Amino acid sequence: MLIPHDTRIALETVVDLVNTAPESDAGDGLADIATLYGFAERHRISGVGALGEKDLRAVHDVRSRFAEIFAAPDARTAADLVNGLVAAAGTTPQLTNHDGYDWHVHYFAPDASIADHLAADCGMALAFIVVAGEQERLRRCEAPDCRDAFVDLSRNRSRRYCSSRTCGNRLHVAAYRARRREAAG
Ligand SMILES: [Zn+2]
Ligand SMILES: [Zn+2]
Repeated sequence: MLIPHDTRIALETVVDLVNTAPESDAGDGLADIATLYGFAERHRISGVGALGEKDLRAVHDVRSRFAEIFAAPDARTAADLVNGLVAAAGTTPQLTNHDGYDWHVHYFAPDASIADHLAADCGMALAFIVVAGEQERLRRCEAPDCRDAFVDLSRNRSRRYCSSRTCGNRLHVAAYRARRREAAG
């Protein structure tokens, strides 16, 4: 599956956003306006202007919609959710080649709020995945104490963990220890 550069970046933004949600007792990764500014900067979401409580609430709302799309049981459900999200954001497709990138399309409207910016551009990135027939690549980590969202971009859709370095490795070590205990027992 060939994924354009900007779509890949938008997907990383979706994953990071979904994973700021307070799943367990970890707390909300977007608890206040300062962390929202940090998020915007980290993902180079330009032109968002001054952010306030309203933006924070709106981004939390978009975040839950993205989580629903990750949880969608089939492409039809995912498509309906993406359509609703993108329609509400009021998109204005614009070809651009800013900052030395090749031509690509921005979907957010000029002067869009940060929530609408995320809904439009990340929503369209998720639309791209659905169009490619790859909705099942939107996954959650199989480590029981993690469950973080990720997009499986592996060739054979075989990825099970958010990160092979952390969760994958941790579970492999646990399985190895369990086997050794069994062998010794
Ligand atoms: Zn761009
Ligand atoms: Zn994980």
